Formats: sequence, C-alpha cells, structure tokens
Amino acid sequence: MKIKIILLSLQIIILLFTKTSNSQEDFNYIEVSHNLYVITEISGGNVAFLVTKKGIVVVDAGSTPENGAKIVSIIKSVSNKPIKYLILTHFHGDHINGIVGFPRDVKIIAHQDLSKNNDLFNKKNLDNYINNVLPGYLVNLKLQMGLIENKESEEFISLKKDYETNLEYFEDIKNIKLREPDIAFENFYRFRIANERIMLEHPGPGHTNDNILVKFSNHNVIHMGDLIFNKMFPYTIEEHGVDIYTWVKILDDLYKENIYTVIPGHGEIGEKIILKEQSDYFKTLAQKIERLKKQNLSLDQIIAICDIMDHDLKGNEDQFKENIIVIYNQLTTSKVDWWNF
Ligand SMILES: [Zn+2]
Repeated sequence: MKIKIILLSLQIIILLFTKTSNSQEDFNYIEVSHNLYVITEISGGNVAFLVTKKGIVVVDAGSTPENGAKIVSIIKSVSNKPIKYLILTHFHGDHINGIVGFPRDVKIIAHQDLSKNNDLFNKKNLDNYINNVLPGYLVNLKLQMGLIENKESEEFISLKKDYETNLEYFEDIKNIKLREPDIAFENFYRFRIANERIMLEHPGPGHTNDNILVKFSNHNVIHMGDLIFNKMFPYTIEEHGVDIYTWVKILDDLYKENIYTVIPGHGEIGEKIILKEQSDYFKTLAQKIERLKKQNLSLDQIIAICDIMDHDLKGNEDQFKENIIVIYNQLTTSKVDWWNF
C-alpha cells in the first residue's frame, strides 16, 4: 500500500523531475533544416540546436544534470563551435534541469517569470523529492528485496534494477541547480547570430504562464516547447497558469504563419498541421464539455461521459481527465464563448 502511495507521488511529480530509467540509452538526433538539429526525447523535452559560424544556439536543457551533459556531448560531436545561447521554453524540470551540464559561460534566455516559477514550484518539489519521496521509495524497494528468498527470480531482478536506476537518479538530481537567465524578457526577444535570425515570443499563457516559442526565421522552423504535445494528451496544470482558451488562439494564429516544420515539446517532429491538430483536440473537447454543462451535468458526470477513445492520441492518458477539469473550470470562471473561434 505504501509503495502504491509513493508511486502515485512519483507520477504527480514526474513532469518536473522525469525519471531516467532509460538513461543508458543513446539519444538520437536529426537535422531538420540546414545546420538545425533536434535531439529527440529520451527522458525530457525535445532539444533543438542551431550551428552557426559564430557559435551554437540550443533550445531546452534536458531533464537532469546527466541528461544536460549528454546533450552537450552530442552537440560537440556535431560541431566544435562554442555553445553561445541556451533558450529555455518554460520552467518545467524536464526542460531546464540539465542546465548544470552546460558550459558556465553560455548565455541563458527565458521569459521573465521563469525564475519566479522555479522558486514557487520546482524548488519545493525538488527538496521533497530528494529528502522524502526518493529515499522512502529506495528504502521500500530494499525492504521488498529483503523479503524475496530467491535472488535469481524475475521479481528480485526487476526490483534490483529499479533500485539501481533510482539510486543513480537520486545522485544525479542532487546536482540540479537553476542558473538565473542572463536575458529575461516579457513579450518578445529577437537576436542575430552570424546570419541567423532567432525570434522568441511569449504569446500569452497556454501550457504555462511563462511559455515561449522559438522561431528559426531563416528556416521556417518553430520550436513550440510544451505548447505542442504531438499526438499525445497535453499536460495541463492549473496552478502553473494553464489557459486553454489562449492556447487555442496561439495555435490558430501560428497556423496562418509561414511555418514548415514544428518541433513539439514532446512527441515527434511534424509539419504545420500538428498545430491545427492540437487546437482541434481542445476545441472538440471544450465544445463537448460546454454542451454537457448546459444540460446541467456535474463535472463528475461530464468526466464519466467524455470518452478518451474519441481522441486519436496516445501517451499521457492520465492527463485526459485533467484536461477536462481545466476546460470545465475555465468555462465556468471566464465565460468564454468556445464556439467563437
Ligand atoms: Zn511542460
């Protein structure tokens, strides 16, 4: 029973401190445009890097210090230019916890609220994770292992593997430390490096209140951070400032722009259509919830009626219920006309 409770805590916290059970796996990277690469996710968000004559620009830092160091080593295997800038798309740990793996002199760019959010949410969670959750989990695993007589059994081997992975993870996350951004902006930040133009925008709150998107203007490629979860259920956490209405507007506005390739925070890289798919998911769900709400159904009844199978998404299934709750609450409090897009 105790294990179950701890596992539940792990699930809640996993967004901020993603487990590295796959830490031994190799990362993959692909070139999505000339000199613009994406390291596809293993245990954190998708990381992009652009190689220019004057240095390298990276978007997002990976989920742990070890993860960040691995990202840097992959970048070094592609180019010996210095890493000049590290752009952080938002404050969630699976995008920023790898910062300490980066060179000390890299310039960090983020939204002005990222540090505040990190203090408010990440620090408390990290302390709790390091001081309580993970040590408790490890002690429990040890106890369970002690109860098994046959040390060759599958059950024992599986517990031992879990123990070793989490012990390694425990040591890794003790090194997590956010560095204050060198450049923090409110709405827009644009810069050039060599002949490349990089445009950063905070389009309003969507996934979080500090989410930014990164436009590689010479390439018509955009890194969306977690404003896109491609073909999976998006994370929606009310206390992190999620705003589905604005999120849909952001996606619909971007869909009109001249974009070829979309790098999502999570999931596979796609074409512009994935912006519309994410928007359509929210609209379809919101319209259904609004219809049921008008029939005076309670939130619990609505949750029971909404069918996850109506949506062609796989991954983060536990977020479907959260998506419904967030939309229901936003419909209740902001009285937005969801039909009027
Ligand atoms: Zn996120």
